[in-house]
Amino acid sequence: MPTALIWFRRDLRLGDHPALLAAIEAAGPDGTVVPVFVFDDRLYGPSGDPRRAFLLDCLADLHEQTGGALVIRTGDPAQVLPRVVEELGAGSVHVTADAGPYGRQRDAAVERALGEVPFVRTGSPYLVAPGRVVKRDGTPFQVFSPFSRAWREHGWHAPAPRPDDVPWATGVRSDDPPPRPDLDGVRLPPAGEAAGLEAWARFRDERLLGYAAGRNTPGTNGTSRLSAYLKYGCVHPRTLLADLAARDDGGESVRRYTDELAWRDFYADVLWHRPDSARAYLKPELQSMAYDSGPHADELLEAWRTGRTGFPIVDAGMRQMLGEAYVHNRVRMIVASFLVKDLHQEWTVGAKVFMEHLVDGDLASNQHGWQWVAGSGTDASPYYRVFNPITQGKKFDPDGTYVKQWVPELRDLDPKYVHEPWTAPGGVPAGYPEPIVDHAHERQVSLDRYAAVRAR
Ligand code: FAD
Repeated sequence: MPTALIWFRRDLRLGDHPALLAAIEAAGPDGTVVPVFVFDDRLYGPSGDPRRAFLLDCLADLHEQTGGALVIRTGDPAQVLPRVVEELGAGSVHVTADAGPYGRQRDAAVERALGEVPFVRTGSPYLVAPGRVVKRDGTPFQVFSPFSRAWREHGWHAPAPRPDDVPWATGVRSDDPPPRPDLDGVRLPPAGEAAGLEAWARFRDERLLGYAAGRNTPGTNGTSRLSAYLKYGCVHPRTLLADLAARDDGGESVRRYTDELAWRDFYADVLWHRPDSARAYLKPELQSMAYDSGPHADELLEAWRTGRTGFPIVDAGMRQMLGEAYVHNRVRMIVASFLVKDLHQEWTVGAKVFMEHLVDGDLASNQHGWQWVAGSGTDASPYYRVFNPITQGKKFDPDGTYVKQWVPELRDLDPKYVHEPWTAPGGVPAGYPEPIVDHAHERQVSLDRYAAVRAR
């Protein structure tokens, strides 16, 4: 009986899944499809606990959706998959292409190890597969706006139909998944495809039209909160854009939302062309700038990490990260700028902390989000743009709703003091720290260090 393997990675769903359809077709009307997930320590090991837990929850969901057929194996995929293929006499292995630096190498190794057995890549986690949108001369785009124009012109496929009845193979030996980490109170969103589609439907029907106006206000529920579902492929962005295309009342909000998905594709594209940009500065001169180190710098870093800098919007953001493994986009920019420009740490230090704690931690979006803030990315905020945590707080959280949600020490303050508690008549409330640095001074230090690099 023909058997095809579908190896799930960042595509943990059954709907809108071209690779799954390819596996069903390869198995044919009399064949079976084996759904496999491999715990590979090279990827699972460095994930922080929130991502591990979310992944395990997604796999539990997939197990249920496949009627208990999901096969778990553990080890190096280049050794594990040929063994499964041999055990089952499978005729092909199907995947959604992985564009990440490790994923590409791993897949090439698996393909070699499978020898004659076809390793079939169908689709990608993106609207347009990384590497496809290039300038007329064939070189990659460095700047987002022309990339997004070309990306829209390129277009994307319609969603793939959900298969009615997949002939899952049953009774295949499976390892136990690793134990779910104890998250010590961190609240994660419900995992899996149905939860992702439900989160999308709620956003689409109730909040989408307010997205353009509300996406920068962290104290409101103005964004879609779909990032973890997109990261693990519980939902494909094609599904979202097909819904948006069907709405003609969305205007600016639909355009903005599509733009955010274009940023996601853009960063994956940058990583595709420059796999080293996961660690290396895209503007190398900024690597040679002076950064702080030593015991005092470590203390300041710890204050940032734990949300005790004395700057309310920064602390609220870091505490949101510790509380729900997520941070609002505006606040990601503010806390990242604070680490790089006020505490003079390299962006890689902050990117590592984010990857440890965020449930949506994604190499392309995270590393390039950090490079954007640090001014070292391809299309980055200029280095001399230093976010002021006080004016940013006042502008984007004017009544202090967000700060008060995450920093209980400031809950009783009049909103006019929330972003500068040291100006309150009674001074900084008990239990909340005084500012750990003088923002105006550190801003100048950063600009001087930048000027020194430029003068070289
Ligand atoms: P929405 O505003 O509803 O946007 C919809 C989707 O578009 C998001 O789910 C996401 O997939 C995509 N998107 C939105 N903004 C961006 C962006 N700037 N870059 C790339 N994709 C975007 N996003 C991650 O998914 N993983 C990360 O690890 C990550 N790290 C970041 C680090 C920094 C320093 C910064 C500044 C941004 C980072 N982002 C990251 C991008 C962005 O903050 C999140 O995608 C967004 O906050 C997720 O919330 P949402 O789903 O409600 O977004």
